[in-house]
Amino acid sequence: MLRFRIQSKDLKAVESLNLKRKLLYLLLVVGFGLVVVGLIGYINIQNIKRNLDALYFGSLVPLSELNAINNTYHNDIASPIYRWSNQLLSDEQTAKEISIGLEKINQLWTTYRSHYKRSEEMAYVEYTEGKINSLESYFIRVRTLISYPDRTHPLSLTTLDENIQLIHATIEKLIEYEKEVAHYEHALLLAEYENALMRLILFLVVILALVMGLAWKIFARIEWQQHQLIESTETLKHLNLKLEQASYTDSLTTLYNRRYFNIIYEREFKRSLRSGKPFIFMMLDIDYFKQYNDTYGHIQGDIALQAVARVLKNSLQRPGDYPFRLGGEEFGIILSDSDCESGKIVGEKIRSAVEALRIEHKGSKSLPTLSVSIGGICITPTAQIGDDALIHAADANLYAAKERGRNQVVFSTTL
Ligand code: GH3
Ligand code: MG
Ligand code: MG
Repeated sequence: MLRFRIQSKDLKAVESLNLKRKLLYLLLVVGFGLVVVGLIGYINIQNIKRNLDALYFGSLVPLSELNAINNTYHNDIASPIYRWSNQLLSDEQTAKEISIGLEKINQLWTTYRSHYKRSEEMAYVEYTEGKINSLESYFIRVRTLISYPDRTHPLSLTTLDENIQLIHATIEKLIEYEKEVAHYEHALLLAEYENALMRLILFLVVILALVMGLAWKIFARIEWQQHQLIESTETLKHLNLKLEQASYTDSLTTLYNRRYFNIIYEREFKRSLRSGKPFIFMMLDIDYFKQYNDTYGHIQGDIALQAVARVLKNSLQRPGDYPFRLGGEEFGIILSDSDCESGKIVGEKIRSAVEALRIEHKGSKSLPTLSVSIGGICITPTAQIGDDALIHAADANLYAAKERGRNQVVFSTTL
């Protein structure tokens, strides 16, 4: 009953640690940290991707388109016109080439314009578009002249050259500008990338520190509680031991009590039965103790009981010797590891030691001082002998000692 209560208390202490809840907190913190880090990482990667897009589609791809426009002016429009002027190409074919070239330039320009543009770029892009448009009008006029020659205003190859050079210069400038933008975007991207990386590292460090800090706190708490638990378990163990001792001890004399006697008697009796060694049991009763109480009072009676108990303790110090207070002023002695002769000697020793105390006892009819009578029995138990037989024999011998005048030991070795 006692043990069970302590164990259930221990369990409660373990439950009070709330280990599961703490580990759940920890998991939540780690989980939250990971989600946030993931989110930040995702946003940063998206940013870098957008910048890459801007760099690629906003600056690099347009370069090829602008170069293609320049080439188209040269190869698909100006070149057929020169071939026409050298009569290497027909009017009709030349006009057709011009139309195809203009259409191609229109398409390339539309694609170029559809790419991402910074607002700062727009002014120059629109300027170039104006030039391309006016050049388109010029080539439409050229196409008309080629289809319907006008003697008064013949086609000037010089103007054609000038126009081609002008648009070439304009587009080259735009290309230079796009290159500059590309460099700028590139530097921006690198800076952005480094910033994102720094932010990510910083965030990771903060989250890690936070998680470690929290984990440390939680584990410190668990450790502290574990320490508390160990301490209270130690206290409980100690208390348990004390209670166990108390349950076997007589409080007045500190000898073993009747409860422990029952246990030891049974255990040592069985041991003797197995080992074949003699079992010695003695009963001791203070002589005329009722009169002692009547004469000196109950408190003094208790002190006398303690004095007799001390005699028993001092006389019985071998490992197999057990002194008990069986109740009132009656004591029991078990000697589990002695022969009958020494058993009798021990009984006599105790009797004379009590007499030697010289505790005044006016009411005694046998001596002027306190004395005890002892009834002892020493036999080697057999299966036929009942447990109680020795108790009855010792009791009978005690009775005989009283009958024979008290302050003596009656010891027998047969039942
Ligand atoms: P006898 O020589 O025949 O043994 O005579 P007795 O007076 O000792 O007779 P008995 O053994 O019947 O007396 C027991 C007395 O022991 C009665 C009671 O007053 C006393 N006694 C029993 N327990 C205690 C105790 O715990 N303290 C004290 N002071 N006295 C006790
Ligand atoms: Mg008695
Ligand atoms: Mg008595």
